[in-house]
Amino acid sequence: DSVPAPNFIRYIIDEDLKTSKFDKRVVTRFPPEPNGYLHIGHAKSICLNFGLAAEYKGTCHMRFDDTNPGKEETEYVDSIKEDVQWLGFDWKEHLYYASDYFDRLYEFAVELIKQGKAYVDDLSADDIRLYRGTLTEPGKESPFRNRPVEENLELFEKMRAGEYEDGACVLRAKINMAAPNIVMRDPALYRIRKVHHHRTGNKWNIYPMYDFTHCLSDSIEGITHSICTLEFENNRELYDWVLDELKVYHPRQIEFARLNLTYTVLSKRKLIELVTQGHVTGWDDPRMPTISGLRRRGYTPEAIRKFCERIGVAKRDSMVDMALLEYIIREDLNKSAARVMAVLRPLKVVIENYPKDQVEEMEFVNNPEDPGMGSRNVPFSRVLYIERDDFFENPPKKFFRLGPGREVRLRYAYFVTCVDFIKDEQTGEVIELRCTYDPETKGGNAPDGRKVKGTLHWVSAAHAIDAEVRLYDHLFTRENPNEGGDYKECLNPNSLETLTGCKLEPSLANSKSGIRYQFERLGYFCLDSKDSSSKSLVFNRTVTLRDTWAK
Ligand code: ATP
Ligand code: MG
Ligand code: MG
Repeated sequence: DSVPAPNFIRYIIDEDLKTSKFDKRVVTRFPPEPNGYLHIGHAKSICLNFGLAAEYKGTCHMRFDDTNPGKEETEYVDSIKEDVQWLGFDWKEHLYYASDYFDRLYEFAVELIKQGKAYVDDLSADDIRLYRGTLTEPGKESPFRNRPVEENLELFEKMRAGEYEDGACVLRAKINMAAPNIVMRDPALYRIRKVHHHRTGNKWNIYPMYDFTHCLSDSIEGITHSICTLEFENNRELYDWVLDELKVYHPRQIEFARLNLTYTVLSKRKLIELVTQGHVTGWDDPRMPTISGLRRRGYTPEAIRKFCERIGVAKRDSMVDMALLEYIIREDLNKSAARVMAVLRPLKVVIENYPKDQVEEMEFVNNPEDPGMGSRNVPFSRVLYIERDDFFENPPKKFFRLGPGREVRLRYAYFVTCVDFIKDEQTGEVIELRCTYDPETKGGNAPDGRKVKGTLHWVSAAHAIDAEVRLYDHLFTRENPNEGGDYKECLNPNSLETLTGCKLEPSLANSKSGIRYQFERLGYFCLDSKDSSSKSLVFNRTVTLRDTWAK
Protein backbone atom coordinates (compact mmCIF):
# COMPACT_ATOMS: atom_id res chain seq x y z
CA ASP A 1 0.00 0.00 0.00
CA SER A 2 2.80 2.42 0.83
CA VAL A 3 5.03 3.69 -1.96
CA PRO A 4 8.46 2.05 -1.62
CA ALA A 5 11.27 4.43 -0.85
CA PRO A 6 13.76 4.93 -3.63
CA ASN A 7 17.06 3.20 -3.02
CA PHE A 8 20.24 2.53 -4.96
CA ILE A 9 19.08 -0.93 -6.06
CA ARG A 10 15.87 0.40 -7.58
CA TYR A 11 17.98 3.04 -9.28
CA ILE A 12 20.22 0.39 -10.87
CA ILE A 13 17.20 -1.65 -11.99
CA ASP A 14 15.52 1.43 -13.46
CA GLU A 15 18.67 2.17 -15.46
CA ASP A 16 18.89 -1.43 -16.68
CA LEU A 17 15.27 -1.32 -17.77
CA LYS A 18 15.88 1.92 -19.65
CA THR A 19 18.89 0.53 -21.48
CA SER A 20 17.19 -2.83 -22.05
CA LYS A 21 20.25 -4.51 -20.57
CA PHE A 22 18.26 -7.57 -19.53
CA ASP A 23 15.48 -7.38 -22.14
CA LYS A 24 13.39 -5.40 -19.68
CA ARG A 25 13.06 -8.35 -17.34
CA VAL A 26 13.59 -8.42 -13.58
CA VAL A 27 14.46 -11.81 -12.11
CA THR A 28 15.79 -11.96 -8.57
CA ARG A 29 16.43 -14.88 -6.25
CA PHE A 30 16.58 -15.68 -2.56
CA PRO A 31 19.38 -18.23 -2.13
CA PRO A 32 19.62 -19.58 1.42
CA GLU A 33 22.01 -22.31 2.37
CA PRO A 34 19.89 -24.94 4.16
CA ASN A 35 22.18 -25.16 7.18
CA GLY A 36 19.99 -23.43 9.76
CA TYR A 37 16.72 -21.64 10.28
CA LEU A 38 16.04 -18.22 8.77
CA HIS A 39 16.45 -15.13 10.94
CA ILE A 40 15.23 -11.56 10.67
CA GLY A 41 18.32 -10.67 8.62
CA HIS A 42 17.18 -13.15 6.00
CA ALA A 43 13.75 -11.51 6.11
CA LYS A 44 15.42 -8.32 4.89
CA SER A 45 16.81 -10.20 1.89
CA ILE A 46 13.50 -12.02 1.28
CA CYS A 47 11.48 -8.80 1.35
CA LEU A 48 13.99 -7.12 -0.91
CA ASN A 49 14.20 -9.87 -3.52
CA PHE A 50 10.53 -10.87 -3.59
CA GLY A 51 9.49 -7.25 -3.13
CA LEU A 52 11.51 -5.98 -6.10
CA ALA A 53 10.26 -8.81 -8.29
CA ALA A 54 6.64 -7.96 -7.43
CA GLU A 55 7.21 -4.26 -7.91
CA TYR A 56 8.71 -4.71 -11.38
CA LYS A 57 6.29 -7.51 -12.34
CA GLY A 58 9.17 -9.93 -12.55
CA THR A 59 9.86 -13.19 -10.76
CA CYS A 60 11.81 -14.18 -7.70
CA HIS A 61 13.36 -17.62 -7.52
CA MET A 62 13.59 -19.61 -4.33
CA ARG A 63 16.91 -21.39 -4.59
CA PHE A 64 18.54 -23.63 -2.04
CA ASP A 65 22.28 -23.15 -2.18
CA ASP A 66 22.94 -26.73 -1.13
CA THR A 67 26.54 -27.39 -2.11
CA ASN A 68 27.86 -28.00 1.38
CA PRO A 69 26.76 -31.54 2.29
CA GLY A 70 26.92 -32.63 5.90
CA LYS A 71 25.87 -29.30 7.34
CA GLU A 72 22.67 -29.31 5.34
CA GLU A 73 19.51 -31.10 6.22
CA THR A 74 16.00 -31.56 4.93
CA GLU A 75 14.66 -30.17 8.21
CA TYR A 76 16.23 -26.84 7.30
CA VAL A 77 14.84 -26.91 3.77
CA ASP A 78 11.34 -27.48 5.14
CA SER A 79 11.61 -24.76 7.77
CA ILE A 80 12.94 -22.25 5.23
CA LYS A 81 10.04 -22.91 2.85
CA GLU A 82 7.56 -22.56 5.69
CA ASP A 83 9.09 -19.29 6.87
CA VAL A 84 9.20 -17.66 3.42
CA GLN A 85 5.56 -18.57 2.81
CA TRP A 86 4.55 -17.40 6.25
CA LEU A 87 6.19 -14.04 5.51
CA GLY A 88 3.73 -13.80 2.64
CA PHE A 89 5.86 -14.63 -0.40
CA ASP A 90 5.22 -17.13 -3.16
CA TRP A 91 7.91 -18.47 -5.50
CA LYS A 92 5.21 -20.24 -7.53
CA GLU A 93 6.91 -22.76 -9.84
CA HIS A 94 10.32 -21.20 -9.29
CA LEU A 95 11.81 -23.54 -6.73
CA TYR A 96 15.40 -24.55 -7.44
CA TYR A 97 18.30 -26.37 -5.84
CA ALA A 98 21.90 -25.63 -6.74
CA SER A 99 22.46 -29.39 -6.43
CA ASP A 100 20.25 -29.85 -9.50
CA TYR A 101 23.05 -28.18 -11.44
CA PHE A 102 25.85 -30.50 -10.30
CA ASP A 103 26.11 -32.19 -13.70
CA ARG A 104 26.21 -28.91 -15.57
CA LEU A 105 28.64 -27.37 -13.11
CA TYR A 106 30.93 -30.34 -13.62
CA GLU A 107 30.79 -29.77 -17.38
CA PHE A 108 31.59 -26.08 -16.86
CA ALA A 109 34.61 -27.04 -14.77
CA VAL A 110 35.83 -29.41 -17.48
CA GLU A 111 35.40 -26.58 -19.97
CA LEU A 112 37.61 -24.30 -17.87
CA ILE A 113 40.27 -27.03 -17.63
CA LYS A 114 40.19 -27.42 -21.41
CA GLN A 115 40.71 -23.68 -21.77
CA GLY A 116 43.73 -23.93 -19.51
CA LYS A 117 41.87 -21.88 -16.89
CA ALA A 118 41.71 -24.47 -14.13
CA TYR A 119 44.06 -27.05 -12.65
CA VAL A 120 44.16 -29.78 -10.06
CA ASP A 121 46.37 -28.83 -7.13
CA ASP A 122 47.87 -31.39 -4.74
CA LEU A 123 49.04 -28.82 -2.21
CA SER A 124 47.61 -29.34 1.27
CA ALA A 125 44.99 -26.92 2.53
CA ASP A 126 47.61 -25.40 4.84
CA ASP A 127 50.08 -24.87 2.02
CA ILE A 128 47.43 -23.35 -0.19
CA ARG A 129 46.77 -20.87 2.57
CA LEU A 130 50.49 -20.13 2.98
CA TYR A 131 50.97 -19.70 -0.78
CA ARG A 132 48.05 -17.31 -0.99
CA GLY A 133 50.02 -14.34 0.36
CA THR A 134 48.56 -11.36 2.15
CA LEU A 135 47.11 -7.96 1.36
CA THR A 136 50.59 -6.52 1.13
CA GLU A 137 52.41 -9.54 -0.31
CA PRO A 138 51.64 -11.34 -3.55
CA GLY A 139 50.94 -15.06 -3.46
CA LYS A 140 53.20 -17.84 -4.73
CA GLU A 141 52.36 -20.18 -7.55
CA SER A 142 51.74 -23.81 -6.73
CA PRO A 143 54.23 -26.30 -8.22
CA PHE A 144 51.18 -28.07 -9.73
CA ARG A 145 49.91 -24.95 -11.47
CA ASN A 146 51.30 -25.77 -14.90
CA ARG A 147 50.07 -29.31 -15.27
CA PRO A 148 49.07 -30.10 -18.85
CA VAL A 149 45.37 -29.97 -19.69
CA GLU A 150 45.19 -33.72 -20.33
CA GLU A 151 46.60 -34.52 -16.90
CA ASN A 152 44.18 -32.10 -15.23
CA LEU A 153 41.24 -33.67 -17.05
CA GLU A 154 42.32 -37.11 -15.94
CA LEU A 155 42.91 -36.08 -12.33
CA PHE A 156 39.62 -34.20 -12.11
CA GLU A 157 37.79 -37.26 -13.43
CA LYS A 158 39.51 -39.38 -10.78
CA MET A 159 38.53 -36.88 -8.10
CA ARG A 160 34.95 -37.30 -9.22
CA ALA A 161 35.23 -41.09 -9.32
CA GLY A 162 36.24 -41.11 -5.68
CA GLU A 163 39.83 -42.27 -6.15
CA TYR A 164 41.23 -39.74 -3.69
CA GLU A 165 40.54 -39.05 -0.07
CA ASP A 166 39.03 -35.81 1.25
CA GLY A 167 41.59 -33.01 1.07
CA ALA A 168 44.02 -34.87 -1.25
CA CYS A 169 43.61 -32.24 -3.97
CA VAL A 170 41.33 -29.47 -5.21
CA LEU A 171 40.43 -27.97 -8.54
CA ARG A 172 41.54 -24.34 -8.71
CA ALA A 173 40.91 -21.54 -11.15
CA LYS A 174 44.10 -20.37 -12.84
CA ILE A 175 43.86 -16.62 -12.56
CA ASN A 176 46.63 -14.62 -10.97
CA MET A 177 48.57 -15.32 -7.76
CA ALA A 178 49.64 -11.67 -7.64
CA ALA A 179 46.14 -10.23 -7.98
CA PRO A 180 45.52 -7.35 -5.55
CA ASN A 181 42.16 -8.95 -4.72
CA ILE A 182 43.05 -12.09 -2.76
CA VAL A 183 39.83 -13.77 -3.90
CA MET A 184 41.37 -13.85 -7.41
CA ARG A 185 44.53 -15.74 -6.38
CA ASP A 186 43.58 -19.06 -7.94
CA PRO A 187 40.46 -19.75 -5.86
CA ALA A 188 39.30 -23.33 -5.29
CA LEU A 189 36.41 -24.39 -7.52
CA TYR A 190 35.90 -27.99 -6.37
CA ARG A 191 36.84 -29.98 -3.33
CA ILE A 192 36.66 -33.67 -2.49
CA ARG A 193 34.04 -34.51 0.09
CA LYS A 194 32.87 -38.08 0.42
CA VAL A 195 29.76 -37.08 2.22
CA HIS A 196 26.11 -37.96 1.72
CA HIS A 197 24.09 -35.13 0.17
CA HIS A 198 20.48 -34.56 1.18
CA ARG A 199 19.33 -34.69 -2.44
CA THR A 200 22.00 -36.36 -4.56
CA GLY A 201 22.83 -39.04 -2.01
CA ASN A 202 26.25 -40.62 -2.64
CA LYS A 203 26.45 -39.76 -6.32
CA TRP A 204 29.17 -37.17 -5.89
CA ASN A 205 32.59 -37.34 -4.27
CA ILE A 206 33.38 -33.75 -5.20
CA TYR A 207 31.36 -30.62 -4.56
CA PRO A 208 31.59 -27.17 -6.17
CA MET A 209 32.56 -24.16 -4.08
CA TYR A 210 30.19 -21.29 -3.41
CA ASP A 211 31.93 -18.83 -5.75
CA PHE A 212 31.77 -21.25 -8.65
CA THR A 213 28.22 -22.41 -7.96
CA HIS A 214 26.53 -19.14 -7.25
CA CYS A 215 27.31 -17.20 -10.42
CA LEU A 216 26.58 -20.18 -12.64
CA SER A 217 23.30 -20.95 -10.84
CA ASP A 218 22.29 -17.32 -11.37
CA SER A 219 23.29 -17.60 -15.03
CA ILE A 220 21.48 -20.90 -15.63
CA GLU A 221 18.30 -19.49 -14.12
CA GLY A 222 18.44 -16.23 -16.07
CA ILE A 223 18.63 -14.07 -12.95
CA THR A 224 19.00 -10.39 -13.85
CA HIS A 225 19.94 -8.86 -10.48
CA SER A 226 21.80 -11.04 -8.01
CA ILE A 227 21.49 -9.18 -4.73
CA CYS A 228 23.79 -10.21 -1.89
CA THR A 229 25.33 -8.78 1.26
CA LEU A 230 28.44 -6.59 1.39
CA GLU A 231 30.83 -9.40 2.40
CA PHE A 232 30.62 -10.55 -1.20
CA GLU A 233 31.86 -7.30 -2.70
CA ASN A 234 35.34 -8.77 -3.22
CA ASN A 235 33.84 -11.92 -4.71
CA ARG A 236 32.13 -9.98 -7.49
CA GLU A 237 35.34 -9.97 -9.51
CA LEU A 238 35.39 -13.76 -9.40
CA TYR A 239 31.65 -13.93 -10.13
CA ASP A 240 32.29 -11.93 -13.28
CA TRP A 241 35.46 -13.83 -14.19
CA VAL A 242 33.79 -17.26 -14.18
CA LEU A 243 30.88 -16.09 -16.33
CA ASP A 244 33.13 -14.21 -18.73
CA GLU A 245 35.58 -17.08 -19.20
CA LEU A 246 32.73 -19.48 -19.89
CA LYS A 247 31.00 -16.90 -22.12
CA VAL A 248 27.58 -17.55 -20.59
CA TYR A 249 24.67 -15.26 -19.75
CA HIS A 250 25.84 -12.73 -17.18
CA PRO A 251 23.61 -11.37 -14.38
CA ARG A 252 24.57 -8.31 -12.36
CA GLN A 253 25.67 -8.77 -8.76
CA ILE A 254 24.64 -5.97 -6.39
CA GLU A 255 25.70 -5.80 -2.75
CA PHE A 256 23.79 -4.21 0.14
CA ALA A 257 24.43 -3.91 3.88
CA ARG A 258 23.28 -6.81 6.01
CA LEU A 259 20.92 -6.23 8.89
CA ASN A 260 22.40 -6.07 12.38
CA LEU A 261 20.05 -5.72 15.30
CA THR A 262 20.85 -4.62 18.86
CA TYR A 263 20.74 -7.11 21.76
CA THR A 264 20.86 -10.13 19.49
CA VAL A 265 23.07 -12.03 17.05
CA LEU A 266 22.23 -12.65 13.41
CA SER A 267 24.59 -15.36 12.34
CA LYS A 268 23.52 -18.92 11.77
CA ARG A 269 26.72 -20.23 13.29
CA LYS A 270 26.01 -18.41 16.55
CA LEU A 271 22.33 -19.25 16.54
CA ILE A 272 23.22 -22.93 16.08
CA GLU A 273 25.48 -22.65 19.11
CA LEU A 274 22.67 -21.18 21.22
CA VAL A 275 20.47 -24.12 20.23
CA THR A 276 22.96 -26.96 20.57
CA GLN A 277 24.43 -25.68 23.84
CA GLY A 278 20.96 -25.33 25.33
CA HIS A 279 20.98 -21.57 25.95
CA VAL A 280 17.54 -21.54 24.34
CA THR A 281 14.97 -24.30 23.92
CA GLY A 282 15.28 -24.50 20.14
CA TRP A 283 15.37 -22.57 16.89
CA ASP A 284 11.84 -21.38 17.56
CA ASP A 285 12.44 -20.28 21.14
CA PRO A 286 10.47 -17.01 21.35
CA ARG A 287 13.66 -15.18 22.36
CA MET A 288 15.43 -16.13 19.14
CA PRO A 289 15.68 -13.63 16.26
CA THR A 290 14.64 -16.42 13.90
CA ILE A 291 11.48 -16.13 11.83
CA SER A 292 10.09 -19.17 13.65
CA GLY A 293 11.00 -17.66 17.02
CA LEU A 294 9.37 -14.35 16.16
CA ARG A 295 6.29 -16.18 14.88
CA ARG A 296 5.98 -18.15 18.10
CA ARG A 297 6.52 -14.97 20.06
CA GLY A 298 3.48 -13.46 18.34
CA TYR A 299 5.00 -11.30 15.63
CA THR A 300 2.88 -10.91 12.51
CA PRO A 301 4.28 -11.26 8.98
CA GLU A 302 2.92 -7.79 8.24
CA ALA A 303 4.99 -6.26 11.04
CA ILE A 304 8.17 -7.99 9.86
CA ARG A 305 7.60 -6.86 6.28
CA LYS A 306 6.92 -3.33 7.46
CA PHE A 307 10.10 -3.37 9.52
CA CYS A 308 12.12 -4.47 6.49
CA GLU A 309 10.64 -1.70 4.37
CA ARG A 310 11.26 0.86 7.12
CA ILE A 311 14.96 0.05 7.60
CA GLY A 312 15.59 0.34 3.86
CA VAL A 313 18.73 -0.79 2.07
CA ALA A 314 22.07 0.92 2.15
CA LYS A 315 25.66 0.41 1.13
CA ARG A 316 27.10 0.79 4.61
CA ASP A 317 26.78 -1.58 7.56
CA SER A 318 24.85 -0.28 10.52
CA MET A 319 23.07 -1.47 13.63
CA VAL A 320 19.28 -1.20 13.84
CA ASP A 321 17.70 -0.70 17.25
CA MET A 322 15.58 -3.64 18.40
CA ALA A 323 13.19 -1.00 19.78
CA LEU A 324 12.19 -0.20 16.19
CA LEU A 325 11.04 -3.77 15.60
CA GLU A 326 9.13 -3.66 18.88
CA TYR A 327 7.57 -0.32 18.02
CA ILE A 328 6.30 -1.71 14.73
CA ILE A 329 4.73 -4.86 16.17
CA ARG A 330 3.15 -2.78 18.91
CA GLU A 331 1.61 -0.44 16.34
CA ASP A 332 0.33 -3.39 14.35
CA LEU A 333 -1.19 -5.20 17.35
CA ASN A 334 -2.69 -2.02 18.74
CA LYS A 335 -4.92 -1.94 15.68
CA SER A 336 -5.74 -5.63 15.48
CA ALA A 337 -5.56 -7.26 18.91
CA ALA A 338 -8.64 -7.74 21.11
CA ARG A 339 -8.33 -6.36 24.64
CA VAL A 340 -8.84 -8.90 27.39
CA MET A 341 -8.19 -9.07 31.11
CA ALA A 342 -5.53 -11.22 32.67
CA VAL A 343 -4.01 -11.02 36.12
CA LEU A 344 -0.44 -12.26 36.11
CA ARG A 345 0.35 -12.05 39.85
CA PRO A 346 -3.04 -12.45 41.50
CA LEU A 347 -4.14 -10.81 44.75
CA LYS A 348 -7.55 -11.85 46.07
CA VAL A 349 -10.16 -9.13 46.61
CA VAL A 350 -13.44 -9.68 48.46
CA ILE A 351 -16.21 -7.10 47.86
CA GLU A 352 -17.88 -7.26 51.26
CA ASN A 353 -21.15 -5.55 50.33
CA TYR A 354 -21.65 -7.46 47.07
CA PRO A 355 -24.32 -10.22 47.28
CA LYS A 356 -22.74 -13.63 47.80
CA ASP A 357 -24.20 -15.57 44.90
CA GLN A 358 -24.67 -12.74 42.44
CA VAL A 359 -22.95 -12.70 39.06
CA GLU A 360 -23.27 -9.77 36.67
CA GLU A 361 -22.17 -9.70 33.06
CA MET A 362 -20.19 -6.54 32.35
CA GLU A 363 -19.96 -5.34 28.77
CA PHE A 364 -16.43 -4.83 27.46
CA VAL A 365 -15.40 -3.13 24.24
CA ASN A 366 -13.14 -5.55 22.38
CA ASN A 367 -10.99 -2.93 20.72
CA PRO A 368 -11.42 0.82 21.10
CA GLU A 369 -9.30 1.22 17.93
CA ASP A 370 -11.74 -0.86 15.90
CA PRO A 371 -15.47 -0.61 16.70
CA GLY A 372 -16.08 -3.41 14.18
CA MET A 373 -14.60 -5.86 16.66
CA GLY A 374 -17.70 -5.49 18.87
CA SER A 375 -18.01 -6.25 22.54
CA ARG A 376 -18.26 -9.18 24.92
CA ASN A 377 -19.53 -9.93 28.40
CA VAL A 378 -17.23 -10.56 31.32
CA PRO A 379 -18.57 -11.97 34.60
CA PHE A 380 -18.23 -9.93 37.81
CA SER A 381 -18.77 -11.42 41.26
CA ARG A 382 -17.98 -10.95 44.94
CA VAL A 383 -14.49 -12.46 44.88
CA LEU A 384 -12.02 -11.12 42.33
CA TYR A 385 -8.34 -11.06 41.55
CA ILE A 386 -6.34 -7.94 40.85
CA GLU A 387 -2.66 -7.51 40.15
CA ARG A 388 -0.55 -7.74 43.32
CA ASP A 389 1.39 -4.61 42.53
CA ASP A 390 -1.82 -2.61 42.13
CA PHE A 391 -1.99 -2.46 45.94
CA PHE A 392 0.43 -0.73 48.26
CA GLU A 393 0.08 -0.76 52.02
CA ASN A 394 1.80 2.63 52.13
CA PRO A 395 1.23 4.04 48.67
CA PRO A 396 3.92 6.36 47.41
CA LYS A 397 2.99 9.81 46.11
CA LYS A 398 1.42 9.78 42.64
CA PHE A 399 0.39 6.15 43.09
CA PHE A 400 -3.22 6.14 41.95
CA ARG A 401 -3.95 2.48 42.42
CA LEU A 402 -5.23 0.82 45.60
CA GLY A 403 -4.17 1.48 49.16
CA PRO A 404 -5.96 1.43 52.50
CA GLY A 405 -8.99 3.76 52.32
CA ARG A 406 -8.49 4.50 48.62
CA GLU A 407 -11.07 4.31 45.87
CA VAL A 408 -10.38 3.10 42.31
CA ARG A 409 -12.38 2.02 39.28
CA LEU A 410 -12.52 -1.62 38.27
CA ARG A 411 -12.53 -1.51 34.49
CA TYR A 412 -16.11 -1.42 33.04
CA ALA A 413 -17.47 -2.48 36.45
CA TYR A 414 -17.66 -0.41 39.67
CA PHE A 415 -15.77 1.94 41.94
CA VAL A 416 -14.37 0.04 44.90
CA THR A 417 -12.78 1.24 48.11
CA CYS A 418 -10.24 -0.75 50.12
CA VAL A 419 -11.48 -1.04 53.71
CA ASP A 420 -9.07 -3.64 55.08
CA PHE A 421 -6.32 -6.06 54.15
CA ILE A 422 -5.10 -9.38 55.48
CA LYS A 423 -1.48 -10.42 55.81
CA ASP A 424 0.08 -13.83 55.86
CA GLU A 425 1.17 -14.31 59.48
CA GLN A 426 4.46 -15.91 58.59
CA THR A 427 5.65 -13.89 55.62
CA GLY A 428 3.92 -10.59 56.34
CA GLU A 429 2.81 -10.52 52.70
CA VAL A 430 -0.60 -9.02 51.91
CA ILE A 431 -2.74 -11.93 50.75
CA GLU A 432 -6.24 -10.53 50.60
CA LEU A 433 -8.00 -7.18 50.28
CA ARG A 434 -11.43 -6.38 51.70
CA CYS A 435 -13.28 -3.76 49.69
CA THR A 436 -16.73 -2.23 49.32
CA TYR A 437 -18.30 -1.23 46.03
CA ASP A 438 -20.63 1.61 45.11
CA PRO A 439 -23.61 0.10 43.23
CA GLU A 440 -24.31 3.51 41.67
CA THR A 441 -21.09 3.40 39.67
CA LYS A 442 -21.93 0.47 37.42
CA GLY A 443 -20.10 0.71 34.08
CA GLY A 444 -17.37 2.80 35.66
CA ASN A 445 -18.86 6.27 36.22
CA ALA A 446 -20.25 7.93 39.35
CA PRO A 447 -23.59 9.76 38.99
CA ASP A 448 -22.41 12.34 41.53
CA GLY A 449 -19.52 13.22 39.22
CA ARG A 450 -16.85 12.04 41.65
CA LYS A 451 -13.60 11.10 39.99
CA VAL A 452 -11.05 8.39 40.63
CA LYS A 453 -7.63 8.40 39.06
CA GLY A 454 -6.85 4.70 38.91
CA THR A 455 -8.50 2.05 36.76
CA LEU A 456 -7.54 -1.54 37.44
CA HIS A 457 -8.06 -4.72 35.49
CA TRP A 458 -9.54 -7.70 37.33
CA VAL A 459 -10.98 -11.17 36.88
CA SER A 460 -13.76 -12.93 38.76
CA ALA A 461 -12.18 -15.65 40.90
CA ALA A 462 -14.93 -18.20 40.38
CA HIS A 463 -14.83 -17.77 36.61
CA ALA A 464 -11.12 -17.29 36.03
CA ILE A 465 -9.07 -19.81 34.13
CA ASP A 466 -5.49 -20.64 35.06
CA ALA A 467 -2.57 -20.17 32.73
CA GLU A 468 1.17 -20.03 32.58
CA VAL A 469 2.52 -16.78 31.17
CA ARG A 470 6.04 -16.30 29.82
CA LEU A 471 7.61 -12.85 29.83
CA TYR A 472 10.66 -12.19 27.69
CA ASP A 473 13.52 -9.79 27.77
CA HIS A 474 16.48 -9.35 25.42
CA LEU A 475 18.57 -12.49 24.95
CA PHE A 476 21.75 -10.48 25.50
CA THR A 477 22.61 -7.71 27.91
CA ARG A 478 25.07 -5.92 25.63
CA GLU A 479 23.75 -3.75 22.83
CA ASN A 480 26.23 -5.37 20.48
CA PRO A 481 26.93 -8.87 21.79
CA ASN A 482 29.73 -9.29 19.26
CA GLU A 483 31.76 -6.46 20.76
CA GLY A 484 33.90 -6.68 23.86
CA GLY A 485 34.39 -10.43 24.26
CA ASP A 486 32.61 -13.69 23.54
CA TYR A 487 28.95 -13.02 22.78
CA LYS A 488 27.87 -15.82 25.10
CA GLU A 489 29.34 -14.01 28.10
CA CYS A 490 26.56 -11.46 27.87
CA LEU A 491 23.64 -13.85 27.66
CA ASN A 492 20.85 -12.33 29.76
CA PRO A 493 20.09 -14.66 32.70
CA ASN A 494 16.67 -13.02 33.01
CA SER A 495 15.60 -13.26 29.39
CA LEU A 496 12.72 -15.55 30.38
CA GLU A 497 10.40 -15.13 33.36
CA THR A 498 7.81 -17.85 33.78
CA LEU A 499 4.70 -17.04 35.80
CA THR A 500 2.33 -19.81 36.83
CA GLY A 501 -1.10 -19.56 38.40
CA CYS A 502 -2.01 -16.51 36.36
CA LYS A 503 -5.77 -15.81 36.24
CA LEU A 504 -7.44 -15.02 32.94
CA GLU A 505 -10.95 -13.96 32.03
CA PRO A 506 -13.02 -16.98 30.91
CA SER A 507 -13.28 -15.98 27.24
CA LEU A 508 -9.62 -16.92 26.88
CA ALA A 509 -10.47 -20.59 27.34
CA ASN A 510 -11.35 -20.54 23.63
CA SER A 511 -8.21 -18.84 22.44
CA LYS A 512 -6.44 -20.42 19.54
CA SER A 513 -2.89 -20.39 18.40
CA GLY A 514 -2.36 -17.46 16.06
CA ILE A 515 -4.82 -15.11 17.79
CA ARG A 516 -3.14 -12.16 19.45
CA TYR A 517 -4.47 -10.27 22.44
CA GLN A 518 -3.74 -7.19 24.41
CA PHE A 519 -3.82 -8.14 28.08
CA GLU A 520 -4.99 -4.78 29.38
CA ARG A 521 -2.19 -2.74 30.92
CA LEU A 522 0.31 -5.62 30.46
CA GLY A 523 1.20 -5.94 26.81
CA TYR A 524 0.46 -8.10 23.79
CA PHE A 525 0.22 -11.85 24.19
CA CYS A 526 -0.50 -14.98 22.20
CA LEU A 527 -0.89 -18.65 22.94
CA ASP A 528 2.33 -20.61 22.75
CA SER A 529 2.02 -22.80 19.66
CA LYS A 530 4.09 -25.62 21.14
CA ASP A 531 3.64 -25.92 24.87
CA SER A 532 0.03 -24.84 25.26
CA SER A 533 -2.85 -27.33 25.38
CA SER A 534 -6.54 -26.99 26.14
CA LYS A 535 -5.79 -28.44 29.61
CA SER A 536 -2.92 -26.14 30.42
CA LEU A 537 -2.74 -22.82 28.66
CA VAL A 538 0.60 -21.14 28.05
CA PHE A 539 0.84 -17.56 26.79
CA ASN A 540 3.84 -15.65 25.48
CA ARG A 541 4.28 -11.94 25.82
CA THR A 542 5.09 -10.59 22.38
CA VAL A 543 5.91 -7.09 23.53
CA THR A 544 5.10 -4.69 26.35
CA LEU A 545 2.65 -1.82 25.86
CA ARG A 546 5.28 0.86 26.14
CA ASP A 547 8.96 0.87 25.51
CA THR A 548 10.43 0.14 28.92
CA TRP A 549 13.95 -0.11 27.52
CA ALA A 550 14.20 3.42 26.22
CA LYS A 551 16.64 5.31 28.37
P1 ATP B 1 24.61 -16.24 8.25
O1 ATP B 1 25.70 -15.22 8.11
O2 ATP B 1 23.59 -15.96 9.29
O3 ATP B 1 25.13 -17.63 8.31
P2 ATP B 1 24.31 -16.46 5.50
O4 ATP B 1 24.50 -15.22 4.74
O5 ATP B 1 25.44 -17.41 5.50
O6 ATP B 1 23.80 -16.11 6.92
P3 ATP B 1 22.54 -17.66 3.64
O7 ATP B 1 21.67 -18.83 3.83
O8 ATP B 1 23.67 -17.78 2.71
O9 ATP B 1 23.03 -17.23 5.06
O10 ATP B 1 21.66 -16.39 3.29
C1 ATP B 1 20.69 -16.32 2.28
C2 ATP B 1 20.55 -14.90 1.86
O11 ATP B 1 20.19 -14.07 2.96
C3 ATP B 1 21.85 -14.38 1.30
O12 ATP B 1 21.58 -13.71 0.08
C4 ATP B 1 22.35 -13.42 2.36
O13 ATP B 1 23.03 -12.37 1.79
C5 ATP B 1 21.06 -12.97 3.04
N1 ATP B 1 21.31 -12.60 4.43
C6 ATP B 1 21.82 -13.38 5.40
N2 ATP B 1 21.97 -12.69 6.56
C7 ATP B 1 21.52 -11.44 6.31
C8 ATP B 1 21.41 -10.24 7.09
N3 ATP B 1 21.78 -10.20 8.38
N4 ATP B 1 20.89 -9.14 6.51
C9 ATP B 1 20.51 -9.17 5.22
N5 ATP B 1 20.59 -10.25 4.43
C10 ATP B 1 21.09 -11.38 4.95
MG1 MG C 1 25.91 -18.26 3.28
MG1 MG D 1 27.33 -16.32 6.54
